[in-house]
Amino acid sequence: MTAQIIDGKAFAAILRTRIAAEVGRMAEKGITPGLAVVLVGEDPASQVYVRSKGRMTKEVGMASFEHKLPVETAQDDLLALIATLNADPAVNGILVQLPLPDHMDEAAVINAITPEKDVDGFHILNVGRLATGQKAMVPCTPLGCLMLLRDHLGSLAGKNAVVIGRSNIVGKPMAQLLLRDSATVTVAHSRTADLPAVCRQADIIVAAVGRAKFVQGDWVKPGATVIDVGINRTEDGLVGDVDQASVAQVAGAFTPVPGGVGPMTIACLLANTLTATARSNGLPDPEGLTP
Ligand code: NDP
Repeated sequence: MTAQIIDGKAFAAILRTRIAAEVGRMAEKGITPGLAVVLVGEDPASQVYVRSKGRMTKEVGMASFEHKLPVETAQDDLLALIATLNADPAVNGILVQLPLPDHMDEAAVINAITPEKDVDGFHILNVGRLATGQKAMVPCTPLGCLMLLRDHLGSLAGKNAVVIGRSNIVGKPMAQLLLRDSATVTVAHSRTADLPAVCRQADIIVAAVGRAKFVQGDWVKPGATVIDVGINRTEDGLVGDVDQASVAQVAGAFTPVPGGVGPMTIACLLANTLTATARSNGLPDPEGLTP
């Protein structure tokens, strides 16, 4: 079997077009969604992410506010900036680029963002809302994975899903979203016994491990859908957490790296900014952008 490729890049482009159209409709009401991105320090990967977030924000017609702070910034100064952004009506979404420098308390910084402007969905209130099925801001990468899975499979109800990885930004919220769609969810991690056997039970595998080409073809049930979240910079260039060559022989479909989940993450950040803007203006959630 040769698997179908799930084209996240194309899906993300369509999503951005829809978002731009909705931004146009908001403009007629005198509303311009605004996204503030805060970068502390000069981590090269973070700089690239922040640049492309700013560019795409402007491309869909939103206002982009970039705040670059030196690595030695005191946490109190960052918290003061967040307080200013919380109070600014032109700012509907706030994203603090992670990781933060070691002298900062990441949780304290994230939890200082007004939950309604927390477009990354990492604030403890949004985590709790997602877990209890309430209206939340949902983390962008798992939201993008969910959109791709629904588009490819339709209903996820009753499917066996294995999420490899239990991080707060990918694995755990991914599991919550799959559970919310009535999949039967297993969350695997570094202490899971016989991971290949666990994966072989899965109709859906989401790999968020951070290890290049980790998931092998003989771990995959024939016809399963494999979502590769991994971004690993190797001598071979950018590779995912899935061994594409062997998995493509067995899976029904998979997301490539690059061109799979990555582009969906930024598109979902824009989707969340639009959702936050709609909510803060008393408008209904834009269709199809929330779980
Ligand atoms: P973390 O390092 O926070 O989490 C990795 C998870 O993988 C942990 O839960 C860890 O288990 C688990 N793990 C590690 N080794 C093994 C193993 N041998 N067997 C089973 N599980 C294992 O990573 P993130 O969740 O932040 O990111 C995961 C990947 O996704 C990375 O490659 C990252 O670059 C990428 N990423 C991509 C994004 C995108 O937009 N496409 C966005 C965010 C991340 P344990 O908890 O036991 O240590």
